[in-house]
Amino acid sequence: MRLVIVLMILFASTITVSSNAQEYLTGIQWQMPPIIKAGATDSQPPSDAIVLFDGKDLSAWENGEKWKIEDGVMISGKGFVKTKQTFGDCQVHIEWTAPTPPKGTSQGRGNSGIFLMGRYEMQILDSYENETYFDGQAAAIYKQTPPMVNVMRAPGEWNSYDIIWTCPRFNEDGSLKSPAAITALHNGALVLNHFELLGDTPYNRPPEYTAHESVGPISLQDHGNPVRFRNIWVRELVPPKGEKTREPFIRKGKVETPIEKSK
Ligand code: MG
Repeated sequence: MRLVIVLMILFASTITVSSNAQEYLTGIQWQMPPIIKAGATDSQPPSDAIVLFDGKDLSAWENGEKWKIEDGVMISGKGFVKTKQTFGDCQVHIEWTAPTPPKGTSQGRGNSGIFLMGRYEMQILDSYENETYFDGQAAAIYKQTPPMVNVMRAPGEWNSYDIIWTCPRFNEDGSLKSPAAITALHNGALVLNHFELLGDTPYNRPPEYTAHESVGPISLQDHGNPVRFRNIWVRELVPPKGEKTREPFIRKGKVETPIEKSK
């Protein structure tokens, strides 16, 4: 029995040695990812976020004077608001709640919307026990796709959207190089999984792409309903940086992954 155990240990250590005998290396020298401070909770902005509304003022928004703040909450007023700052690929967090008591039906109940780049709408609507066309309900890309699920909370309760947005890219001649794409969570549930947009999101014609700048504002829709908002922030997305210094290769012998020096 003891012999068996000794043999097993030897065998195991042999395996360990042989698995260490070679290592795959990418040939890419990565820079150290920036260290940022997490928010107090996952819904609070990390330290590199740009805060668009923290309950105090609407100074980040054009037309903000036409909306109002009550008890630290931003309430939809007359006309769209749009951010003074513009964004490209980004992550957006926004919390909103439908008016209570609910009024109206279908598209007339708790309607607003978040427009990425000022032109691509992810629908905001009171979709709690409120029927409407599916590609117009909460978390839909308006007139393009419904969300995968309806995870809407009742009016008066807070909803969150966490959006990962990839801008469309255009060629120099104005033709589309790559479409916009969106991944989004509604109240923590995935509702849009890298959905590639067909174009903009108007009510009265098919979606289309028209070349535009590589950055744009985030706007919030006034649809005549006093939808309430809080805790809005955005992070600009910067891909990890690395430099290919050689082709991928296998390093032989007992090796350890070196920690590349950050630049
Ligand atoms: Mg809308």
